[in-house]
Amino acid sequence: MPQDTPEDVAPQAAPPGHWLSPGDAGYDEARAVWNGMHDRRPAHIARCRSAADVGEALRFAAAHGLDVTVRGGGHNVGGSAVADGALMIDLSPMRAVTVDPRARTAEAQGGCLLRDLDQATAPYGLACPAGVISHTGLGGLALGGGYGWLARRWGLTCDHILAAEVVLADGSVVEATEESHPELLWALRGGGGNFGVVTRFTLRLRPVGPALFSMGVYALDDVPDALAAYREYTGRQPVGLHTVGGLKRAGEQEWIPEHLRGRPALLLLAVWTGDEEEGRARTEELYREVAPAARISIPMSYPQLQALGDSSEPRGDRYFVKSCYVEDLSPEAVARLVEATRANPSALCSIDFEFLRGAIADVPEEDSAFPGRAAPFQVTAEAHWTDPEQDPEHIAWSRATVEALRPFGTGGAYANYVQGEGDRRAREIYGPERYARLAAVKKAYDPANVLRGNLNIRPEGAAE
Ligand SMILES: Cc1cc2nc3c(=O)[nH]c(=O)nc-3n(C[C@H](O)[C@H](O)[C@H](O)COP(=O)(O)OP(=O)(O)OC[C@H]3O[C@@H](n4cnc5c(N)ncnc54)[C@H](O)[C@@H]3O)c2cc1C
Repeated sequence: MPQDTPEDVAPQAAPPGHWLSPGDAGYDEARAVWNGMHDRRPAHIARCRSAADVGEALRFAAAHGLDVTVRGGGHNVGGSAVADGALMIDLSPMRAVTVDPRARTAEAQGGCLLRDLDQATAPYGLACPAGVISHTGLGGLALGGGYGWLARRWGLTCDHILAAEVVLADGSVVEATEESHPELLWALRGGGGNFGVVTRFTLRLRPVGPALFSMGVYALDDVPDALAAYREYTGRQPVGLHTVGGLKRAGEQEWIPEHLRGRPALLLLAVWTGDEEEGRARTEELYREVAPAARISIPMSYPQLQALGDSSEPRGDRYFVKSCYVEDLSPEAVARLVEATRANPSALCSIDFEFLRGAIADVPEEDSAFPGRAAPFQVTAEAHWTDPEQDPEHIAWSRATVEALRPFGTGGAYANYVQGEGDRRAREIYGPERYARLAAVKKAYDPANVLRGNLNIRPEGAAE
């Protein structure tokens, strides 16, 4: 396989001084990931500041027979960034972003959080479509897909990867572009962290105006009617409007009618980014057709929008997430959603559904490794709690919710929400042809399957 920088560097006998090992100050902080369910103790944490540091870590792991994990923002629900006894390649010191406003591109280091990117691009009125919680890592999100408020208008984050600097499993560094290593670039657009450690993304940026964020609340008893109207509405939903529903207990805010506060309810969120007047008109249409008990609309900047949900997903709490794509919000599917909402074990848990399509579905299937572009809806059952004694009921609720939707599902799911599932699920999600193509890339770039902490593509899955 051609490599841009052939390496012939002997690995170090002892870990470099700036790495962290058990007992070192900062070790416990550095090994902690977002989901408090995963309290794991790596053998070493390689605090990487450059592609060369990442290469050194990979060679050290190979020489000492250590498993490797890669930490971007640490948000993978299954805690794939950290493993007992492994070497963690920690990219969190690599969070620099530079913007070229004329070319409408950004260079973002592999350990960036979404907020790093948004803060760098916002002064130019530009953004890279990405997720909705600003402390999520760009690395895992972009490589697995990347849904967010701009996805219907502009597509997924992975659709915006123009090039990437990648440290391969053997420690060598390549630049994946359309001209050089094009199959690797194809695989990075949705195939996850299977193929190398991305130390720099080159991303396409899009113009983004101020946002109009709106939210309507509906009593749970009214949800079947409201979602019947929403189902009709999505058939003509403008691509510039992104809607997400949350089935959970309503908050205690003043705008929420008193009789709904703290009660199981539907919150229907709508985000418009672009011309403000048009946004108001489009939002009015939505809530006229899907009439809520009450609603609010708040204009805000794009970075404010991106940070809006941050405090509801705090680091260190316990989480379990299952998700699936759903063909249609039929009355039968909605009945299952309502039933699952009534069974919700605690106040922080939520079932979220999102209408997709738009620019996501416009990208031809073969252009990227990302599977499931045609899916109309994604449903996610997020169990969220704090007391370890309540693990079983929360995990069971999330599993049962998605299981109940199986008859309405496409069979697919978003790879970034899959946790603890093996090769069979990876093959189901990517489908046989895409899996075989991904496996061929894996065989070329990581034949020993060093990078296997994520939803794993196996090199032996390549067609002979
Ligand atoms: C609170 C929260 C909100 C979320 N919101 C959204 C959302 O709005 N939209 C959406 O699409 N997804 C969302 N997700 C899912 C998110 O995309 C995944 O959890 C993703 O794995 C997070 O990436 P990370 O870098 O933070 O994860 P990490 O746990 O650090 O990494 C996960 C895996 O990604 C790989 N990886 C990470 N960085 C690199 C890199 N630079 N090079 C190579 N491999 C790398 C590794 O295989 C690693 O095991 C959300 C998750 C959480 C917890």
